[in-house]
Amino acid sequence: MKVKNYSLLVFFLLSISFQATAFQASNDSTKKYKVVLDAGHGGKDWGTRGAKLKEKDVVLPVTLKVGEYLKKFTDNIEVIYTRTKDVYSHPKVRAIQANEAEADLFVSIHANAMPKGNEGVYGTETFVMGTKNEGLNFEVAKRENSVILLEENYEEIYQGFDPNSPEVDIMFEIQQEAYQENSILLASNIELQFKTRAGRKSRGVKQSSLWVLWNTAMPSVLVEIGYLTNPKEEKELSSATTQDYIASAIFRAIRDYFEYLDQTQN
Ligand SMILES: [Zn+2]
Repeated sequence: MKVKNYSLLVFFLLSISFQATAFQASNDSTKKYKVVLDAGHGGKDWGTRGAKLKEKDVVLPVTLKVGEYLKKFTDNIEVIYTRTKDVYSHPKVRAIQANEAEADLFVSIHANAMPKGNEGVYGTETFVMGTKNEGLNFEVAKRENSVILLEENYEEIYQGFDPNSPEVDIMFEIQQEAYQENSILLASNIELQFKTRAGRKSRGVKQSSLWVLWNTAMPSVLVEIGYLTNPKEEKELSSATTQDYIASAIFRAIRDYFEYLDQTQN
């Protein structure tokens, strides 16, 4: 009887000590991460468009869903949206918002387009900041950066930002290069999730000098969820089910990214 009690006591003490260890471990991992979710464009800035669908309208529900999943299924990630409605906010404000919040990650969500005659092109792409603006990547940079031209005092606000200037190369080395490894890590997982779990055609991870990525002081990616100029993909992207698949893919990639940081940094 005594022995039995003793073993119960040992079990009890062990379980307390196990709980204390677990508590400590969970304390260590309760580090709050902040992610800024940026639904591209909005208001007067429509972004690109297909036959019917406007970029600003399709990226908003996808972005909001990513945030909902993060709030529902993780307890250590705080979500900050740059917009939750159809309102205009220029890229500088979005980047400043992320920097001021001292966010750990910036994820900008967009939809893509091709010039006429290339309607057959479809699939997803995730961009990280880079200065290799070759070919079609430069087309994306021109289009996604073009909103900055909507500003009347463009020169003053953007201080002559020119994606092709050598100055951008130098600023890039100072700013986003430090975060590039982590940006690529997240971007690769987003594309992998798109391909393996969301049934999308992944066109891969690419580099481009995108203004909003250039100005954020944290790992940052810009996701192009598909081509509105491809009729089949435009139709798919307008369905809530496809939007949901895409949002869950981005959610899983963000969740895994922070889990990876927890595992490697603790
Ligand atoms: Zn866009």
